Amino acid sequence: MAASEALNASVLVLNRLYMVVHVVGARRAFGLLVNEVAEVIHDEDGAFANYSFEAWREMSELRADLKQPGDDWIKSVNFEIQVPRVIRLLHYDRLPRRTVRLSRQAVFARDGHRCQYCGRRFTPGQLSLDHVIPRSRGGTSTWENMVCACVRCNVRKGGKTPREARMTLCAKPGRPRWNPVMAAKLKNPKYRSWAVWLGESPWEVAASSSQAAAGESPLDAGSLKTA
Ligand SMILES: [Zn+2]
Repeated sequence: MAASEALNASVLVLNRLYMVVHVVGARRAFGLLVNEVAEVIHDEDGAFANYSFEAWREMSELRADLKQPGDDWIKSVNFEIQVPRVIRLLHYDRLPRRTVRLSRQAVFARDGHRCQYCGRRFTPGQLSLDHVIPRSRGGTSTWENMVCACVRCNVRKGGKTPREARMTLCAKPGRPRWNPVMAAKLKNPKYRSWAVWLGESPWEVAASSSQAAAGESPLDAGSLKTA
């Protein structure tokens, strides 16, 4: 595993209450660890242990001969350190964002980069955002009124409603419940330790977070060693 690839590995970030708040790159994660703003949460055969940066560095030294395929390691001049999969912010109590922020990329991701009129897939550069009910007719910029459209279909539709343009939507647009970043990462076996924090699927992020808030997270099963 090349060091640069290891530095690009993703790290799941929990808040102080062990609720998923974010995904960051390994470089950012180490920055938080070195500054003692975060600690490592390591999955050890189904139990979880907390490590400060120093303790994690010592653990990495002991484990350096026992590297598993799929682990990411970073080599510095003096030592080698394993890239953690999960870290926890020690002073951050704010709750995770429950909804996916509306953006061009998020609409494209929701629609699978498929024009919602002709049904064909395109690269992001060939796609545009279409207001189903045009803005000139009072249409809003919301999940329910915005879809992916190819340039050709967008031009054909112009300032008309789908009915006026005699065009049909492939699917009814709505607000997505998933987080596209986490959904994609969970498919990679090296991030399988995230599943316990995210719920079985990334669609359940909100559900697992509310469980954690209600005191039913895996941490209450007595499996956690506190540093
Ligand atoms: Zn099209």
